Amino acid sequence: PVQPRERLRVAIQKSGRLGEPARELLASCGLTWRESRDKLFLYGESLPVDILLVRDDDIPGLIADGVCDLGIVGRNVLVEHGLEREAQGRPADLNEWRQLGWGTCRLDIAIPESEEWTGPQQLEGLRIATSYPQTLGRWLRDNGVDAEPVVLNGSVEIAPRLGQADVVCDLVSTGGTLRANQLRPVTTILHSEAVIAGPRATLDDGRQEIADLLVRRLDGALQLKE
Ligand code: ATP
Ligand code: ZN
Repeated sequence: PVQPRERLRVAIQKSGRLGEPARELLASCGLTWRESRDKLFLYGESLPVDILLVRDDDIPGLIADGVCDLGIVGRNVLVEHGLEREAQGRPADLNEWRQLGWGTCRLDIAIPESEEWTGPQQLEGLRIATSYPQTLGRWLRDNGVDAEPVVLNGSVEIAPRLGQADVVCDLVSTGGTLRANQLRPVTTILHSEAVIAGPRATLDDGRQEIADLLVRRLDGALQLKE
């Protein structure tokens, strides 16, 4: 079991698209910090809140394992984690505490530009490159389509050109990357944005109180932005 802690730990992306806005959001809650020498931790000074800097994909697992208490992560990563847990017969353990309104993107099916789109049935028997096999799998089941997910951890959009897949299921914001690869989005399977992820259960020890305080300040900061 995890040791009782009197400080809250929040996991955010170390770099990438969500890292900087996440730091700005926490700073707008009045949190100040100093960086650890290895640049993995930001030690909170003004509040008992420490920040762990990690890859976004690791955030749900860190919360699920009790290593961190909260996280700032894309809904796409959180949903994929939840479905993965369910597939393993374990209950979904995390949920969205707040939606943040930035980091918005879609998880879209995209097909070669030259092809016409007639609907989900068209995907029957095709190979679909994705980093989100669970989310894609649920959508395929919901639509009664039997296709073959090809799981790739990066460069999903070049898979059709390489002959690894026929179509892709990838994150899209402007569509520029798809266009550069002669693909076009045809249907959205998930609308995503950055969220505060946290456990369904209340936190033990003093952490729930700190979490409540942080979330109150977050709500204030989010309202000011509107
Ligand atoms: P890490 O090194 O942390 O694993 P990454 O390459 O997986 O980084 P980013 O590309 O920084 O991650 O994306 C982080 C999140 O930003 C995504 O999970 C998604 O929620 C959001 N996002 C917003 N727009 C886009 C986009 N156009 N493409 C990819 N992700 C996007
Ligand atoms: Zn990632």
